[in-house]
Amino acid sequence: WDMFVLAFVERLFRPTYRKDDFVLGKKLGEGAFGVVYRVSLAKNPASKKEGDLVLKKATEYGAVEIWMNERVRRACSSSCADFLYGFLENSSKKGAGYWLLWRFEGEATLSDLMLSKDFPYNVEAMILGEVQALPKGLGRENRIIQTIMRQLLFALDGLHTTGIVHRDIKPQNIIFSEGSRTFKIIDLGAATDLRVGINYIPKEFLLDPRYAAPEQYIMSTQTPSAPSAPVATALSPVLWQMNLPDRFDIYSTGLIFLQMVSDLFKTSLPLLFSFLTQAFPSLRSDSNLIQFNRQLKRCGYDLVSWRKTVEPRASSELRRGFELLDLDGGIGWELLTSMVRYKARQRTSAKAALAHPYFGREGLLALSFMQ
Ligand code: ADP
Ligand code: MG
Repeated sequence: WDMFVLAFVERLFRPTYRKDDFVLGKKLGEGAFGVVYRVSLAKNPASKKEGDLVLKKATEYGAVEIWMNERVRRACSSSCADFLYGFLENSSKKGAGYWLLWRFEGEATLSDLMLSKDFPYNVEAMILGEVQALPKGLGRENRIIQTIMRQLLFALDGLHTTGIVHRDIKPQNIIFSEGSRTFKIIDLGAATDLRVGINYIPKEFLLDPRYAAPEQYIMSTQTPSAPSAPVATALSPVLWQMNLPDRFDIYSTGLIFLQMVSDLFKTSLPLLFSFLTQAFPSLRSDSNLIQFNRQLKRCGYDLVSWRKTVEPRASSELRRGFELLDLDGGIGWELLTSMVRYKARQRTSAKAALAHPYFGREGLLALSFMQ
């Protein structure tokens, strides 16, 4: 009860917004389920030209996304972009639907940053505010990637502890928050809250095949279907323990880890092709990731045998990735293989991954320079 009263009072005193309050700026994204703009408040002309807010005009699924954001706001606010307000806009046909408002966290997603030729050094500068004096090389790159992975797993652990599975973890949905100098998770449009049964039925068509784990259903199909309204405790933590739905996100996070170390984005392509992919950056990532997924499937989702088959013919970029994971007795490789496994129950959890030796002594060092 206290929770409800607190949430209600908090909601009452938070500023509310209406359609006419916003001046639309640059379009940041457009998917099948909504459009995202950078916006500013009409009554605040000082912020007019840039816009310090983000507005998503969503379709019917926006209701679930608002619910998820409200829950994150109360339970694990540092995990995700700062959510301000969500409401149903039904005055005009064109803008009708659910409108969601966040603080503008920063210009770059992890995807943008990974596409840069300078990755991961471009991130080091953003996290530290300055560039290290150490020479460039595998060790320094490993430290930066450790920091990104830790921030990502930390945010994910927050969501999972709250009972939320994101289901669409990918570099495009990870924003670098310039204010806190950390990575935060965005886009809860495909998220599900299993403890109260919100958005329980998996919408497979929402899942991004490039990052999705092999299991189609994150809960056993034998599980009784949960109510679609926010009725409390439809699913018990016991059920959560049995099915480990959070491991779906862990698989996706493992793929991001692999992408960060292996330069799958930045293969040394012939000049013409590299010109083309400069113009269409998505080509670069997609073709490599799709090829990887095909290879992994052929190896029965066993990373170790995948490595055995590709290593002899690996590009120098990929070989460099293996080298990075092999540092310090191969603890990076060990962490990766504990995340990318066919069976969800054999994958590590976000919390256990944070305690992995990969983030050990070196990791603590990285943490201290992060803060
Ligand atoms: P979509 O459903 O279109 O994928 P997202 O919620 O992922 O919607 O937002 C689309 C894009 O808008 C993101 O990839 C990111 O570039 C940008 N964006 C979203 N939220 C924020 C935010 N709080 N701060 C800065 N940029 C954001
Ligand atoms: Mg998105």
